[in-house]
Amino acid sequence: MAKAAKSSFVCQSCGAISARWSGKCVSCGDWNTIVEEVTSAPPPGSGLTRASKGRTLTLETLAGAPEEAPRFLTGMPELDRVTGGGIVPGSVLLISGEPGIGKSTLLLQLAAALGRAGRRAIYFSGEEAAAQVRLRAARLGLADAPVALAAETSLTNILATLGEEKRADLVVIDSIQTLWSDALEAAPGSVSQVRAATQSLVRYAKQAGCALLLVGHVTKDGQIAGPKAVEHVVDTVLSFEGDRGHTYRILRATKNRFGATDEIGVFEMAGSGLKEVANPSELFLGERDAKAPGTSVFAGMEGTRPILVEIQALVAPSGLGVPRRAVVGWEQSRLAMLIAVLEARCGVSFAHHDVYLNVAGGLRIVEPAADLAAAAALLASLGNRALDPKQIHFGEISLSGAVRAAPHMGLRLKEAAKLGFTEATIPASGDPNADGAKLKLRRVAHLKELAEALGPCD
Ligand SMILES: [Zn+2]
Repeated sequence: MAKAAKSSFVCQSCGAISARWSGKCVSCGDWNTIVEEVTSAPPPGSGLTRASKGRTLTLETLAGAPEEAPRFLTGMPELDRVTGGGIVPGSVLLISGEPGIGKSTLLLQLAAALGRAGRRAIYFSGEEAAAQVRLRAARLGLADAPVALAAETSLTNILATLGEEKRADLVVIDSIQTLWSDALEAAPGSVSQVRAATQSLVRYAKQAGCALLLVGHVTKDGQIAGPKAVEHVVDTVLSFEGDRGHTYRILRATKNRFGATDEIGVFEMAGSGLKEVANPSELFLGERDAKAPGTSVFAGMEGTRPILVEIQALVAPSGLGVPRRAVVGWEQSRLAMLIAVLEARCGVSFAHHDVYLNVAGGLRIVEPAADLAAAAALLASLGNRALDPKQIHFGEISLSGAVRAAPHMGLRLKEAAKLGFTEATIPASGDPNADGAKLKLRRVAHLKELAEALGPCD
């Protein structure tokens, strides 16, 4: 086959295509990410070079009974929760995460669970040899599970194999970055290879009606290598997060065509594989040192589930001209804002102090309602005092210092009561029926009230 060589310049970071090489990508601003990729023109007569005539579509109205997508349960309740109630046949899921975080373990457990439930699960490993996957299966106690396994990186071979399948329910590709198609000259892992492989596999999944799970590795800066090109063609993007220093892992949906994106699934990495954590609050508060100064408990929400987590602050005199502000598990800009509000509206100065804030256990909080808990931890650390260990906090703080209502107040309070907490510092406004829980409520309208109550004691 004669190839009409045609070059395009593709940013390896964001996937933007340009006609010329340049040092900096105009789309995402990254340096030295643009690589020349040779693409072949479609062969003549393939139908791709000439627009076909098309057929007339039947246009419909917006009204009508909504069609609930059929789903099958995975047998892993935390995974079902994140996907919005199970996996939809014909859907394509991308599981992204840092190398070594446990994506292969999760998917092998999933494939085994489905296999044992009588479904046809096929696992293509491009990262590891079949023997290595078998070793892992043995370690996880899954060696007897009926999972079809192949170690392969050639897209053509994988598609040919799948073409022979009568009924596949689940196909796992581990990972999408290892696949290569011989129709392209670009190297495996490059944007054009990853894009081509994903598109071919998506087409197969939609035709065959089988669920497709793609593993995508994330590079240090949080981008899936060879990346956005994949996110927009898949139905669901799940990110698998966690800290190697901690045993638990969090599965979070960042895109989901078949459900909500705010649910998280919590797993614990044990020797025998990933175990589901039904009550994450107990896990996150498990190693808590309640008497330590500068810690508070935040009653947060992850989707429909309340999760209690400890927030730790360390405010220490600074020897630097510009004091340090460091934060783990929360937004740096949010901490800067909170410190500014405490200084400007409450007269509490951190100008000569280094400030460190840490969300215990390595959970990443995105909710603004964590403001009040963070403020309490900062004030307690500045005053070197321990807060009442049976107390929880939540509430968003505005730039004026006003404490704003948070959604789902009742659920948060109920969870706190269930875990033995007795007191809650919460916004003055908001759900007046939240008092139903058996907690002593302290309602604050302005951050000043909290600052006065926790003012420096020495
Ligand atoms: Zn770019």
